[in-house]
Amino acid sequence: MSDSSNQAWLARSQAAVWHPCTQMQHHAQTGSPAHLPLVPIARGAGAWLYDFDGRRYLDGISSWWTNLFGHANPRINAALCDQLETLEHVMLAGFTHRPVVELSERLSALTGGALGHAFYASDGASATEIALKMSFHYWRNVGRPEKAEFLCLAGSYHGETVGALAVTDVAIFKDAYAPLVRAAAHVLPSPDFRLGEPGETPADVARRAAAALAAHLERRGDSIAALIVEPLVQGAAGMAMYDPEYLRLARQLCDQYEVHLICDEIAVGCGRTGTFFAHEQASIRPDLMCLSKGISGGYLPLSVVLCSDTIYAAFLDDSVARAFLHSHSYTGNPLACRAALATLDIFEQDDVLAANRLKAQQIAAALAPLAGHPQVRHLRQRGMIAAFDVATADPHFSRRFYRAALEHEALLRPIGNTVYLMPPYIVSDDEIAHLGTAARRALELALA
Ligand SMILES: *Cc1c(COP(=O)(O)O)cnc(C)c1O
Repeated sequence: MSDSSNQAWLARSQAAVWHPCTQMQHHAQTGSPAHLPLVPIARGAGAWLYDFDGRRYLDGISSWWTNLFGHANPRINAALCDQLETLEHVMLAGFTHRPVVELSERLSALTGGALGHAFYASDGASATEIALKMSFHYWRNVGRPEKAEFLCLAGSYHGETVGALAVTDVAIFKDAYAPLVRAAAHVLPSPDFRLGEPGETPADVARRAAAALAAHLERRGDSIAALIVEPLVQGAAGMAMYDPEYLRLARQLCDQYEVHLICDEIAVGCGRTGTFFAHEQASIRPDLMCLSKGISGGYLPLSVVLCSDTIYAAFLDDSVARAFLHSHSYTGNPLACRAALATLDIFEQDDVLAANRLKAQQIAAALAPLAGHPQVRHLRQRGMIAAFDVATADPHFSRRFYRAALEHEALLRPIGNTVYLMPPYIVSDDEIAHLGTAARRALELALA
């Protein structure tokens, strides 16, 4: 078998690679309804991925929500080649470099200066852990060590390391590790608009969820360090969308009870929901913000925690113990920061947010024919994220749909019974139409 065929890479990958988020046995069970095909990718170009046998797949979910401007983007490639010739890496403790300084300045400017310092790591989960530790340590530094608990929302997802699982409320990721996970997090009702009673608007649902937050803070506010939320869209919960009113009220309540608001913008930041940061749609600013995924254009592992000047200042002291001593070896990696700078350049040079408003309309039009489908529920959209739920009792629906979409040259990977489109921003009108057609055909095949 030549090593330029799909089959060769499938066998070698299954023999040597432990793939993430996967029951590995499902890769081997061809012919079973549980079968999850493993797709060897030879190369990417724009919105397309190409396998070794010459088949192609439109990346309708941006390679797990990371890619913004296509695979092998010439502008990001050029910046990275230049950076590679200049400085590939230097430790960030005791040293600094141009890409990390420029990126920190530009990210702070994008928050209107509200979040003045940037702390770096590689993955989203690490950013979550950093934000939790910073909040906890802040309260200790200001003499209020009793503020040590965290609040999160039902269905929340903030990553899968042991610390991040404490504020994640997705059973399939958390339950097996429950004994390892710190209990000091309380789960509050989600403002997910689908929970609305008949006659309730999404804003009503948001106000009801905020009332539960208020009641909890009234009782426990003195022992709470921070509330962590995914602004506007709870991604891993199945693209659960909610009204910005919740963020406005949560901000007020956090101020009133002296609790940090952490916005996890790992999935929804970088233009996904229509504004550069999702929290902007509520006209608020968080105290801490986590970024990852799209920030490097989908090129390299990079995460950032931005914090307010108040938080930063509470760590300045003669004592080393009051400093934030967290570190990762690749903190602030110059290549990853340079990819992020090239990504921000594209946002500015191409007026991406304006262009995305038109693309969002095209995505809505591509899915509109599904609105009347007897098994489609809650067709919804926020900017460049569109989703619908499928009413079916078939436990294999998501894999059937996934396989059917691949047959129609599309990478679409439902979360449970929720199908969603989250394409790279360079997707063309024709490619959006292709995704819409693939989604409709895959739905028919998966339900047949
Ligand atoms: C993906 C994600 C994370 C975790 O990021 P990783 O890089 O996968 O660790 C955290 N929060 C949200 C909202 C995410 O979507």
